[in-house]
Amino acid sequence: MNLVEEIGHLPGLVDDRPLAGPQPGLLLMMRTAGPTLAVVPLADLSSTPMTVTVRRQTPYTFLGQTTSLCGECLALVPAKIVAEEGRVYYLKRCRRHGVEKVLVSTDPAYWRLCHDYLKPGDRPLVLQTRTERGCPYDCGLCPDHEQHSCLALIDVNEACNLACPVCFSDSSPQRSLHRPLAEIERMMDTLVASEGEPDLLQISGGEPTIHPEILEILAAAKRRPIRHVMLNTNGIRIAEDPEFVNRLADLRPGFEVYLQFDSLNPEAHLNLRGADLTRIRRQALENLERAGLSTTLVVVVKQGVNDDELPAIIDHALQWRCVRGVVFQPVQDAGRNEGFDPSKDRFPLSAIRRRIVDSGGPFGAGDIIPLPCNPESIAIGYALRKGATIAPVTSFFPRELLVEALPNAITFEKYPELHRQVLEFFSLATAECNNERKLAELLCCLPEVPLPAGLGYEDTFRVVIVEFMDAHNFCIGRVKRSCIHFVTPDQKIIPFETHNLFYRDAAARERLRRSLEGA
Ligand code: SF4
Ligand code: SF4
Repeated sequence: MNLVEEIGHLPGLVDDRPLAGPQPGLLLMMRTAGPTLAVVPLADLSSTPMTVTVRRQTPYTFLGQTTSLCGECLALVPAKIVAEEGRVYYLKRCRRHGVEKVLVSTDPAYWRLCHDYLKPGDRPLVLQTRTERGCPYDCGLCPDHEQHSCLALIDVNEACNLACPVCFSDSSPQRSLHRPLAEIERMMDTLVASEGEPDLLQISGGEPTIHPEILEILAAAKRRPIRHVMLNTNGIRIAEDPEFVNRLADLRPGFEVYLQFDSLNPEAHLNLRGADLTRIRRQALENLERAGLSTTLVVVVKQGVNDDELPAIIDHALQWRCVRGVVFQPVQDAGRNEGFDPSKDRFPLSAIRRRIVDSGGPFGAGDIIPLPCNPESIAIGYALRKGATIAPVTSFFPRELLVEALPNAITFEKYPELHRQVLEFFSLATAECNNERKLAELLCCLPEVPLPAGLGYEDTFRVVIVEFMDAHNFCIGRVKRSCIHFVTPDQKIIPFETHNLFYRDAAARERLRRSLEGA
């Protein structure tokens, strides 16, 4: 068999078409007796009709290959990563369920940029499992994992006072579990053993503020060498119980409220949360402002529901002195995700970033950059803040410093542009370094940027975009780099994505069994 015939057996790669006469500018691949191809300009041939074999280009650019999950049976499947018409897709092929095309990024240039921000991984001190069945079946953390826990979560309950249509933990008032304090403390100890001094622990649920021992839980976290503790909440108790907010304020410094805040629009609340929470959000923010409690707003973004509000939410955040930043998260198709159509409702990290950058607001394209420990999943923009005015500074962070093996310090002497920006923004004559306070307080893998003396955390603002993968856009390379982890009651530390897919509860473990069956 000659080479053309061999190529001809690969569907889609060659095009056998009868051509009438010479076609100027085209090349003909001629069959030859031997194993070689003869390539001849068609214009040189006689006008006799003939059958030719013309190579056809793929409609996409092949960017690489990964392993993903079949959206149907969750078996591990090969996935081509391709760029096509200004978007990046996975082309997945399952032996049993065929081909699936999944949107991964709306911005191929940013997708490529993410790879320039990769840095050596920073491993945990101890591991909880062994590498046996291979990723993602050994969580965790197993020796194959590439990143420690930059941010850890502990679910203290499954009960909730809402039943949101988008809830990856499937919590609701029908669930009654509140974990005992002793069990939660053991989970905290697992984290401390793994991290030494954990950077950031989020107390989550369910709705953690309705746990009968929530203040004792927070106090237990504060007793441990954990740098920052956050309370993840839907804000109902924060809005309705000012005395509770006063008790939370006693936990400062190193304590922050992570407040669900998806929209300024009642219809979007109804879609995402099943209730109009407009009044609750406003009252919660008023109570947090009064108590001077640092707050991060967290926005779940769903295409066609609230994706047009993102710049407005940043503007709104800046009206509140207590708000230190906004975290945007595309809906993760996990748990209870009612009415979600993955072919229409996905709004990936790249689209959120583009929406913010194109809004004409303070954050330009260079101001929201990939976070080096997990660049495809997390983007960050840091800014200096004066009242409702901000000046982004992330573009002054030199990339070569961001991707160095060890977290590093930026000195004003070495980075005069950053220094100038700080001086001008705050109208200062000199910016003496404040050894206590750093710009990037919460994210461990960023270089330490000193704040000028007299300035503090409240003079900073950040926008963070976090994209958690689901079965559709799952990538085994990305999940090994995951740095946001759940600590589980059986003393494991499991990446956010694999926990929701395969480990969280009985339904997840059933998915794990099916996935292994298909593997
Ligand atoms: S996700 Fe990480 S911890 Fe889990 S199996 Fe893969 S490498 Fe191991
Ligand atoms: S998303 Fe949060 S507030 Fe909504 S039901 Fe789930 S745990 Fe409760």
